[in-house]
Amino acid sequence: SLLITLTLFWILAIGIAYYLSRSSMKPILESWKRQRQFSANAAHELRTPLTVIQNQMEYMLTKPKAQVVDQVDAISTSLDEVRHLQTLTNRLLMLARSDAGRIEINVQSVDLKSWFDQVLRPYVDIAASQHKSLDKYLRATGQGWFDADLIRQLLIILLDNAIKYTPEGGTVTVTTSRVRDKLTIEVRDTGQGIADEDKARVFERFYRSDKSRNSKTGGNGLGLAIAKWIVTQHHGTITVKDNHPKGAVFVATISMRSQVGPAVN
Ligand code: ADP
Repeated sequence: SLLITLTLFWILAIGIAYYLSRSSMKPILESWKRQRQFSANAAHELRTPLTVIQNQMEYMLTKPKAQVVDQVDAISTSLDEVRHLQTLTNRLLMLARSDAGRIEINVQSVDLKSWFDQVLRPYVDIAASQHKSLDKYLRATGQGWFDADLIRQLLIILLDNAIKYTPEGGTVTVTTSRVRDKLTIEVRDTGQGIADEDKARVFERFYRSDKSRNSKTGGNGLGLAIAKWIVTQHHGTITVKDNHPKGAVFVATISMRSQVGPAVN
């Protein structure tokens, strides 16, 4: 019976050790897997624009006597891809720095109405140049407290998308409102909208709906992941719902500190 007790003891001990090692290794393994996936996705996103640029340059080299219009075309195509790469690398860097906890949150005091008006102003022209309109209802007034650089980025990500995914003749509507220290930013568009099964996933890194993947909108699926990070840093939430009769509505609510203070963690 001593032998049986000892055997049972060892089986139990090995079982517990195995369970503990698995459960404590799990988060490490998962984070490693996520990191690997992130690098693979990043490399994949970098490859497409690089291939386009390479093709355009090879064309110019092999056809030095090509018509000027064709050369200009090749250069402008390459330049578009360079801009795409710039956005991509900036966003990758931002996410890498946020993962490493290397972004400081600088809360500033701003006059809400004039600040939003100033950030939105260039976008009225950008939308108009694409035959779309941008309406704004800036109902949040008084002083606000947040990291103005980050909230500007949040707004730009939502606006860029709303304009990009809305066809000509469409309308993008930005509304701001506040209830005490809660600030809500709503960006509404009349575009293709987001399918129910994609609604939760669009905030994941590199996620793009099949519809967008197939169209030539040239996104990278990182904007909304950054938007979500910014909102979280401000103790807020961001959600998406349907606009009626068509389009998407993104609603971001952040908590504003009632005084200029140190980092919102
Ligand atoms: P992307 O650079 O691809 O636009 P985002 O992270 O900003 O990356 O958005 C992720 C995906 O969410 C997009 O690829 C698109 O499928 C969808 N999406 C985002 N905004 C909108 C919108 N306003 N209307 C329709 N689909 C949108």
